[in-house]
Amino acid sequence: MSSLVQPGGDVAANLAANLAAVRDRIAAEAAAVGRDPRGVTLVAVSKVQPVEKLEAALTAGHRVFGENRVQEAKAKWPALKARHPDIELHLIGPLQTNKVKEAVALFDVIQTVDRPKLARELAAECRKQGRWPRFFVEVNTGLEPQKAGIPPAEVGAFLAACKAEYGLQIAGLMCIPPAEEEPALHFALLADLAKRHFVPGLSMGMSGDFDVAVRLGATHVRVGTSVFGERKAPPAMPGSGPEPDASRGA
Ligand SMILES: *Cc1c(COP(=O)(O)O)cnc(C)c1O
Repeated sequence: MSSLVQPGGDVAANLAANLAAVRDRIAAEAAAVGRDPRGVTLVAVSKVQPVEKLEAALTAGHRVFGENRVQEAKAKWPALKARHPDIELHLIGPLQTNKVKEAVALFDVIQTVDRPKLARELAAECRKQGRWPRFFVEVNTGLEPQKAGIPPAEVGAFLAACKAEYGLQIAGLMCIPPAEEEPALHFALLADLAKRHFVPGLSMGMSGDFDVAVRLGATHVRVGTSVFGERKAPPAMPGSGPEPDASRGA
């Protein structure tokens, strides 16, 4: 064989192995509770990861990715999407209303619909662009004041308003459980809400707990570290800090 070492070869091999391991785990957990593993979509969370790793995941055949910031996603994904039109890009981080236009243009699924004003503006923007991503409502299952999401008790009314008032069809519910609590309780609560309100999608579970989430009915797991490895801190560039939370309230 050639003595040339393929640039990025290790990265590609590692990523392919990580993806396979996570997929196997999902399949095993699904089988354990009698679920069809094809009912679980692995959203590979690529925030902060360099394009080299995204390329490696694409080479390994993976197509579903999650990003938590609109600006970062806009810098990384349009060129890759042009080459791979079957990529499905999920927004899993908070969405400010001043980024709604870019988000509707770029994402295929927006998982973080969390307030009436945002729902209304998303629907208006979709009509304008003639482009309809799928939408999930984020639920604040732990009622954490610093966290986004609709409180569980208000999910029914919010879903009804999305349909009747804002004209936004909701495909699923999403949650990020409190870091210190047993995630299973939160996953069970989200699953119960989805069932009660006839919402088919359930986005729950990350690297540390996607196995539990699959057992409790997740249709989408959002896995970053177990696929791509530890995240390095993003480069400190002007304007690249965390997006301000000012518009999160209403
Ligand atoms: C970063 C992130 C994930 C992935 O977390 P890992 O622990 O790296 O798997 C999942 N969901 C959301 C909303 C995130 O921001």
